[in-house]
Amino acid sequence: MTTQPRDNLIAWLRDAYAMEGQAIELLERQIERREHYPEIRNKLQEHLGQTRGQQAALQQAFNLLGEAPSGLKASAMKMAANIQGMLHALASDEVMKHALGSCAFEQFEAASYQALVTAAEQAGEREVASTCSAILREEEAMAAWIWEQLPQLTKQYLQRSATGADAKR
Ligand code: MG
Ligand code: FE
Repeated sequence: MTTQPRDNLIAWLRDAYAMEGQAIELLERQIERREHYPEIRNKLQEHLGQTRGQQAALQQAFNLLGEAPSGLKASAMKMAANIQGMLHALASDEVMKHALGSCAFEQFEAASYQALVTAAEQAGEREVASTCSAILREEEAMAAWIWEQLPQLTKQYLQRSATGADAKR
């Protein structure tokens, strides 16, 4: 039994589509909880818009290939995101849990698109490769932003906690 590059490409595009559904839920759950950290909330809002665009771009890639995303994968990942949101809301350092989670998640997204660019090239799907490389740049930029923001956010969080202010949201 063999699996051709095109089959792997389609499976990974379905994973990516589901991952973006998860991303939308994670971002929405964070935005609605982010009260005292407006820079973070604004950036998350901006990335939510980008993420919706990424899902639309992936849908176009499926159309081009004559394929469709998987509804089952997509709803499972959305559910996972909402469970994660509920668990994080229980933490007294919720904002920190969100930020650390975002660092990992945005890197994971970037890695997924890095692999997808190569898979699309190997399958001879140039347009899909260029869609994935445009999304890759957005994920890299978001991963870098949240990473660079971490020391400042940590200081703000520590200060708020030390003065008895509401720090978690
Ligand atoms: Mg994304
Ligand atoms: Fe992202």
